[in-house]
Amino acid sequence: MSEVAVKSGIATKGYAAMKPGGTLVPWEFARREPGPHDVLMDVAYCGICHSDVHQVKDEWSEGIFPMVPGHEVAGQVLRVGEKVTRFKSGDLVGVGCMVNSCRTCRGCREGLENYCENHLAVTYNGTEMDEVTPTYGGYSKLLVVDEAFALHLPANLDLARTAPLLCAGITTYSPLRHWKVGKGQRVGIVGLGGLGHMGVQFARAFGAEVFVFSTSDHKTADARRLGAHEVVNTRKEGALEALKGTFDFILSTVSSGYSLGSYIELLKRDATMVVVGLPPANQPPAVDLMALVSKRRTLAGSMIGGIAETQEMLDFCGQHNLQSDIELMPIDQVNTAYERLLKSDVRYRFVIDLKTLPT
Ligand code: NAP
Ligand code: ZN
Ligand code: ZN
Repeated sequence: MSEVAVKSGIATKGYAAMKPGGTLVPWEFARREPGPHDVLMDVAYCGICHSDVHQVKDEWSEGIFPMVPGHEVAGQVLRVGEKVTRFKSGDLVGVGCMVNSCRTCRGCREGLENYCENHLAVTYNGTEMDEVTPTYGGYSKLLVVDEAFALHLPANLDLARTAPLLCAGITTYSPLRHWKVGKGQRVGIVGLGGLGHMGVQFARAFGAEVFVFSTSDHKTADARRLGAHEVVNTRKEGALEALKGTFDFILSTVSSGYSLGSYIELLKRDATMVVVGLPPANQPPAVDLMALVSKRRTLAGSMIGGIAETQEMLDFCGQHNLQSDIELMPIDQVNTAYERLLKSDVRYRFVIDLKTLPT
């Protein structure tokens, strides 16, 4: 195991990429000693988001290394600081993509910390509010977080299957809610991976008619089980032709370069396509402006969701028994999981079992 001297705080073990594009290896590092508002968390499970792969490979922008990925973190509270009011030792607790924000800007005041205008402390590959100290994610045994950014997890759901809700769940729930997707609407979900398979479940639960657009023909039965009314194999010549101009809303979760034009053409006049998938910076999706302007269509984006909405989504999942389809992985298989994600070989979220981390 490669180790760094842990000078202060609480020593913890995890897996890190030591350099851009590097494989993940065991790494020991320090968490801060929990302050008065902090929760110390024993991490049980952490989902593997495709964003982890993009960031380890430095596909968006320059990353901070060593990098401990992981922003779908589920576990239990070990202890709390003296001013913590919402959590106690033994509670289930979750952490998503952010661990702090400025709390004063317009975004933060409106409960949209995810769009903080000053400094958003993302869970890893970012910095704490001092804008210096690197943050480290959930591929690790212990995590310290301000209680304002900790989530309560529904006790009736399987904990491992709850972890992916903290990114894949909120990232699909938030735009479907914001654009008021529901009954009487035809909705398309593009890509049936970690995000897509949650998007299908939410769109169906909100009462929409749901189509899945997939490049993988073997995912059809799963898509239907998850709630899709129709599944379209986009690799089939002419598959989209008959569907032009028939959709009220489309959510794209595609993780690599593709053409947006053929999906925009599926929208009705005045309808919206929202992109949440973020292909590598060197594979920008092609946009067909004629398809946009000719029917006053909207192309929009969305990034995760605020803390209050994340709690609302978790409670909704608890009430409606919605959870992620997962493949549980020992942590020493994380590099294999990354390779499989790149081949869209996932049903539908890899989740790391932190019990497999050597002590
Ligand atoms: P994932 O599990 O790998 O799923 C992506 C799916 O996209 C694949 O399973 C595949 O589905 C489809 N796909 C991949 N390459 C494609 C291509 N070239 N053309 C068409 N379809 C393709 O990834 P994920 O974890 O769901 O994440 C999806 C994307 O969202 C990533 O780029 C990630 O970084 C981003 N993301 C964004 C946010 C945000 O806040 N906006 C949050 C989390 C993740 P089929 O096999 O069905 O075709
Ligand atoms: Zn994510
Ligand atoms: Zn802010």
